[in-house]
Amino acid sequence: MPYETTTRVVILGAGPAGLTLGNLLHARGIPCVVVDKFDREQLLGRTRAGLLEYRTVETMRRMGLADRLLKEGHRHTGCEFRFTGRRTYTDFSELYEGRSHHVYPQQEVVADLLDGLLRAGGDVRLGVAAESLEQNGDGVTVHLADGSVLHGAFVAGADGQHGVARASTPPGAVTEYEMVHEFQWLTLIATAAPSAEWTIYAQHERGFAGHLLRSDTVTRFHLQVPVGDTVETWPDDRIWAELRARLAHPGWTLHEGPVISKNMLDMRSRVAEPMQYGRVFLLGDAAHIISPSGGKGLNLAVADAVELDRVLAEYDRADGGTDPGRLAAYSARRVPDVWQAQEFSHALLHMMHTYPPGAPDAAFRQRLQQSRLAQLANSEHYARSFATRYIGPLPTHS
Ligand SMILES: Cc1cc2nc3c(=O)[nH]c(=O)nc-3n(C[C@H](O)[C@H](O)[C@H](O)COP(=O)(O)OP(=O)(O)OC[C@H]3O[C@@H](n4cnc5c(N)ncnc54)[C@H](O)[C@@H]3O)c2cc1C
Repeated sequence: MPYETTTRVVILGAGPAGLTLGNLLHARGIPCVVVDKFDREQLLGRTRAGLLEYRTVETMRRMGLADRLLKEGHRHTGCEFRFTGRRTYTDFSELYEGRSHHVYPQQEVVADLLDGLLRAGGDVRLGVAAESLEQNGDGVTVHLADGSVLHGAFVAGADGQHGVARASTPPGAVTEYEMVHEFQWLTLIATAAPSAEWTIYAQHERGFAGHLLRSDTVTRFHLQVPVGDTVETWPDDRIWAELRARLAHPGWTLHEGPVISKNMLDMRSRVAEPMQYGRVFLLGDAAHIISPSGGKGLNLAVADAVELDRVLAEYDRADGGTDPGRLAAYSARRVPDVWQAQEFSHALLHMMHTYPPGAPDAAFRQRLQQSRLAQLANSEHYARSFATRYIGPLPTHS
C-alpha cells in the first residue's frame, strides 16, 4: 500500500555504505529510512568483497556488530608475492603495529548490518526501488516504485554506480574523473579450501593470477585475461589449468573444486567530486568505483558512511541545522582518502599485471614492475609504506 513518510535522512541502498550509515544514525537518534530494490535473499546472495580493513572492523566493533565477524572471520596478516620464479611473503601486520585485515565475506557483513539495524528497530524497506528524487528548497523527496513517497532533509545516495542518486546530479554539478584500465579480469568463486593461509598475488608471463581467502571451504581467484574475452571462452578446465600454471611453485598444491560463479570484471576506476550535490550525498560505489586490486571498495563505502554520520551530527549540533555550508565537510574529508585508495589500487594493479608484448613500453614497464616487487621483498621501509596503505588508515570515529 503506497504511503508518505517524513524522516530526516532517506538512505538509498542497503549495501555496506547504506546499512552502516543506517546503524550509525539510528544509534544517534537521527531518524532515517533505508530503501533497497533487492529483497533480503537477493541482498545476501551477492558474493563480492571479503577483505576488511582494520578501520572497517573497528567500525563494526563500535556498532556492536563485530561478534560474528571476529568469531567466524579470519585475521589476515600478510601476503605472498610470486614473480620471476621467486616467492616472498611479507607480514604486513608486523610492519603496522599488529593491525591486520579480516577475511569475512561481504554478504555476511551485509547480513550483520541488516540484522543489527532491524533488531534496533530501524526502518528498512526492501524489495522496492527508488525511481526518482527531487530537491526542493530545504528538503528532498524520493518516489518509490510502489507509489510511496519519502520526504527527508537529506538523501544518502548509497545505491551504487547505476542508482538514482548519482543520476540525479545535474550536468556540471559534479566532476567525474574516470580511467578505463588496459587489463581485464576473470574473477571466480570456487568451492575449494584455500591453498594457503594468506592472499597470493602472482605475476607471470601469461598474466596475473590471484588467490584470495573467503572461508574454510570457499576461495576467490582472479585471472588476468585478454581484453575482449568472455566467460564462455573460459570453461572451468581452462581456468584451473591457467591457475595451476601461473600460481605454480615447487612443493605447493592448488586446491581445486567446483566453480560456483565466474564473471568478467569491468576494470574501470571513477571518482566523483564533490561527493555531494545540495542535500544529496554520494557514498560508496555511487561516488567512486575502484579497481578490485587491493580490495578497497567495500572499505571506502563503510568509511564514507562513518564520515557522513559524523558530518550530519556535527551539523545538527553546531547551529541547529541551519548552515548548509557545513555539509561540504563530508566531501572535503572523504575525497583525499578516496584518491589515496585509488593510488594504492592503481600501483598494485601495475605491480602485478603483465603487459601484452605489443603494448607501448611493455618491456620497460615490466622492468619497473620487477624493481617494485624486489623493493617490496628487500626494503623494510618500502614494505612498511605498502603495509599501511594496504591495511588502511586508522579509524576517524567521533
Ligand atoms: C567481484 C568483486 C570483488 C570485490 N572484492 C572486493 C574486496 O575484496 N574488498 C573490497 O573492499 N571491495 C571489493 N569489491 C567492491 C565492493 O563489493 C563494492 O565496492 C561495495 O559493494 C560497495 O558498497 P556500496 O554499499 O557502495 O554499494 P552496493 O554494495 O552495490 O550496494 C548498493 C545497493 O543499492 C541498491 N540499489 C541500486 N539501485 C537502487 C534503487 N534505484 N533503489 C533502491 N536501491 C537501489 C542495490 O540493490 C544495492 O543493494 C568487489 C567487487 C566485486 C564486483
